[in-house]
Amino acid sequence: MNANEQYFYGPLLWIGISLGIIFAILFYIPYPLSIILAIASFILLNFYFRKKVIQRVNTKFGNVSHYSSSSLSYSCINCGTAHNEFACPKCGSKMKRADFKF
Ligand SMILES: [Zn+2]
Repeated sequence: MNANEQYFYGPLLWIGISLGIIFAILFYIPYPLSIILAIASFILLNFYFRKKVIQRVNTKFGNVSHYSSSSLSYSCINCGTAHNEFACPKCGSKMKRADFKF
């Protein structure tokens, strides 16, 4: 299983597991209590599932920002000259801002 397949099947697996748990609760536990437990476990599983998804998204965006760092350039705050030097070659200012190229 490669990373893309894992990314696709991971959420489906979690939906399957949560539905399984909820159906088990509805089946084995008598009515009023089963509804409460089912909702509670649904919320808890969703919470856990979302946390996992957010972690994945962060990892993805982390990779994206890593790749885009090559297209990141700096320009002098003082005179606006685009440069990647430590100090501006034109005016010698060490103040520079990052320009993102998308
Ligand atoms: Zn400058």
